[in-house]
Amino acid sequence: MSKRILVTGGAGFIGSNLCRRLLAEGNEVICLDNLFSTSLSKIEPLMSDPSFTFIQRSVEDQSWWYEVGGRIDQIYNLACPASPVHYQADMVQTIMTSVLGAINVLNFARVTGAKVLQASTSEVYGDPSVHPQKESYWGNVNPLGERSCYDEGKRCSESLFVNYHKQYGVKVKLVRIFNTYGPNMEINDGRVISNFIVQALKGEDITVYGNGGQTRSFQYIDDLLEGFIRMMNDTDDDFIGPVNIGNPDERTIMELADKIIAMTGSKSKIINKPIPKDDPTRRCPDITLARKMLGGWEPRVCLDKGLENTIAYFRSIL
Ligand code: UDP
Repeated sequence: MSKRILVTGGAGFIGSNLCRRLLAEGNEVICLDNLFSTSLSKIEPLMSDPSFTFIQRSVEDQSWWYEVGGRIDQIYNLACPASPVHYQADMVQTIMTSVLGAINVLNFARVTGAKVLQASTSEVYGDPSVHPQKESYWGNVNPLGERSCYDEGKRCSESLFVNYHKQYGVKVKLVRIFNTYGPNMEINDGRVISNFIVQALKGEDITVYGNGGQTRSFQYIDDLLEGFIRMMNDTDDDFIGPVNIGNPDERTIMELADKIIAMTGSKSKIINKPIPKDDPTRRCPDITLARKMLGGWEPRVCLDKGLENTIAYFRSIL
């Protein structure tokens, strides 16, 4: 049955892909975004769809309540800059987006009875001392560090979600997203895959921070969306998560740089730049819980295939 679904942060990389998929599945989609770290171009192809509505407003500005109005069945709360360069550009604003945004969304859900999925993050684990990271691990976050506006903002949102559920019975689902990539990433997103692909295609130096020995585990966007939708549509209201959604295929950043140079046939050379403060040394999800609870969900797209699609996307827009 067609649902009326609100996607906050719906014009961003993940949000725009999610809106497209929800529309393709026959839903009515309302996209809320202030376009702080994205542009209208990502949702331009959706604008002519009569089931799609765009509202340009910040999630922390409660006036969107009145514009969204009416019946809402589901809310995906994605609104927050997610790349270190963007979330560090205005750190206080990042905290407000996470915390006030979560409060606004949860109060709205309380009034309308909508079910809300919170896009949390592997950043809640900080620079982890346990590998791979299970949901039961409490993390190793520096509350005063360069990443704290994002990490602590997202940790506070998780707490808000859990407590609105316990205290007011709001139906919530918590997903912790691990590094995700794919078409619709911003050229200037600042994250490693978009940086390396754009640099390789332009023949510029590939900027490896530190010695490139740090690891990440990269998940293709389609696998994330599948996990999101399965979690949202899970009918056990007592199962609120959090659930890790990621791909446990762990790679070093240097390995990624070599792979992208090879796949693009680029003549770019690798240069080393200082490693940002508090940059996690290793990150890899334990996805046992998602496999068990989300009907056999599994990452399906391997790094080579996902990079091929993402390189093709950047070639088409550069
Ligand atoms: N990174 C890099 N070069 C870049 C951008 C990022 O070497 O041009 C490194 C960064 O230091 C980190 C990893 O790649 O160790 C992933 O960074 P990203 O910003 O993509 O995500 P996050 O650190 O939030 O996982």
